[in-house]
Amino acid sequence: MSVVLIHSDRFAEHQTPPGHPERPERAEVFDVVAERWRRRGVEIVAPRAATREHLARVHDGEYLRQISETNGRSAKLDPDTYTSPETYEIALLAAGAAIDAVERVMGGAHRAAVAMVRPPGHHAERARAMGFCLFNNVAIAAAHARAQGARRVAIVDYDVHHGNGTQHIFEGDREVLYISTHQYPYYPGTGAAEEVGRGAGSGFTVNLPFDAGAVPEDFQLAFDQVALPVLRQFEPDLLLISAGFDAHGDDPLGGLRLTSDAFGAMTMALRGVAEECCRGRVVAVTEGGYDLRALGASLDCAIAALHAPFAPPEWPRSGTSSERGAAAVREAKAALRPFWHLT
Ligand SMILES: [Zn+2]
Repeated sequence: MSVVLIHSDRFAEHQTPPGHPERPERAEVFDVVAERWRRRGVEIVAPRAATREHLARVHDGEYLRQISETNGRSAKLDPDTYTSPETYEIALLAAGAAIDAVERVMGGAHRAAVAMVRPPGHHAERARAMGFCLFNNVAIAAAHARAQGARRVAIVDYDVHHGNGTQHIFEGDREVLYISTHQYPYYPGTGAAEEVGRGAGSGFTVNLPFDAGAVPEDFQLAFDQVALPVLRQFEPDLLLISAGFDAHGDDPLGGLRLTSDAFGAMTMALRGVAEECCRGRVVAVTEGGYDLRALGASLDCAIAALHAPFAPPEWPRSGTSSERGAAAVREAKAALRPFWHLT
């Protein structure tokens, strides 16, 4: 089997205040995308809820107790992060979808899996909800993969925002590699090229920060010269993608200029590494993406890259060369050369 999608129409049940960008309509986009792939013969499965054991691998016990107390009520957890009475249950389902995706792939039932979830996860810290995120879905997935026997897990985060929670959870851990491309400086403020991990984990955090306006050519350079060589040297047993689509040029929050095809190219490039290192095992878990049309088209391109026979990525051309993008890549290489062989 090739790719499986983890999907539920229940992800629309998590309500946010009027005007909030992380809105239930995003889940309706997932419904449309899932139905399109179902008609093409792709298997769609419903997620189960994550258990306390799954969550406690990356979150603090007292934090889990606090979040569980929001069950059945509306609460403001930080200036951007709200619960509705349904949120707790739906957030458990989002983390559970990431767990299910990992089990499908690690168990060999499928080569790749995509968990289409909300709320997103990568800003959630070990003991703090922030940036629309309650539980760090991709971190929970990485921890579960290791519990399932993966020795090394790579997480590549192409959301426009830096995944501060994921970085902090694993920054001292040399068995989990975290690579992020993001707009910088920007929310949440972390993700400078010099942030390369701590202690034994030094070198296993890779940040590729871009100025506003970065184009597909900049991402291609960052992938070809940094992300892909580091991944090949790390040799993961499973590759996770924090698949945010808010680096799209139409996104109302982000200021980068990717196209849906660029998300397809990035996903295909990552799949290429996975084919070399870990029999093509890729799990993507959705993060941001706030223009509904761009979200649907980009997610579709990412799924297509995982579903189709492998082919070298076809990066779209914006026709704009960016000296600032090249400078960002040079800066990241300088910070990472003590740890990785980079040309
Ligand atoms: Zn984002």
